[in-house]
Amino acid sequence: MEEELIGIIGGTGLGEALAEHIIDAEFYDINTPFGRPSTSIMVGRIGQKRVAFLNRHGKGHRFSPSEVPFAANIFSLKKLGVHTVIGSGAIGSLREEIAPGNLIIVDQFIDKTFKRVNSFYRDFGAVHCEMAQPVCGRVREILIDTAQGIDIKTHLKGTYVCMEGPQFSTRAESLMHQSWGADLIGMTAMPEAKLAREAQMCYVLIALASDYDCWKPQEATKNKQTLLKEIIGNLQVATCNCLELVKAVLAGERKLVCDDCHCRNSLELAVWTDQSQIAMADKEKLKVLFE
Ligand SMILES: [Zn+2]
Repeated sequence: MEEELIGIIGGTGLGEALAEHIIDAEFYDINTPFGRPSTSIMVGRIGQKRVAFLNRHGKGHRFSPSEVPFAANIFSLKKLGVHTVIGSGAIGSLREEIAPGNLIIVDQFIDKTFKRVNSFYRDFGAVHCEMAQPVCGRVREILIDTAQGIDIKTHLKGTYVCMEGPQFSTRAESLMHQSWGADLIGMTAMPEAKLAREAQMCYVLIALASDYDCWKPQEATKNKQTLLKEIIGNLQVATCNCLELVKAVLAGERKLVCDDCHCRNSLELAVWTDQSQIAMADKEKLKVLFE
């Protein structure tokens, strides 16, 4: 039986921290029809599992959220043979009970991005994937069960608003996002989750709370330096927690890759364009995604 290869996309926090935990690492520089990924992909082992690790923001946090080559990132992982992706990213909390340092296993998104390549199929034709359940329910359940077995503060669901940025929200926006029923605000989960679905991959996201979003007035006694130190400290706590959770998931018995998961045939009914109208060259270019 072929060994599982698990894709891990590290955002702010995990992006720098995870690499140190990978052994027998080899680096792959991959080219795709959507350009180059954020950086070379590190393939190695964490415990018994093979992982393909990608630092979303590139070396030295080179890419701002709007500039991250999301399409190239997902395409490269797929090309390497990855079918399951665990993503992570820092967020601001919209809820009192989601405290800085906590983890959240995201179950829903509201996509407010508008400057990013959000589909592989723009030249190909009309391709409409279902997104009602935007993360893989099967792998999410494994994350939830694992999180409940270890002693870290994890919220088992949360709705993530993905904004374009790079500026943070105004207070009016922050209050509006709360009124929408959202729990978290971040800048990187989209279109990553959509592209993973378009690539027929199982995708889950662990969010790391770095601070409260600006709906919550800051204590007037704290100066900017103190606040920044606090945010960095919170992110370090969340990163350690996230590392622990990811390692525990990888060490678990349950299979993270499953050929029968419904994420794995998300294109089955999604292509609306008549096959005769799709250029052979486009079919060839994107065939990795259909495998
Ligand atoms: Zn799945």
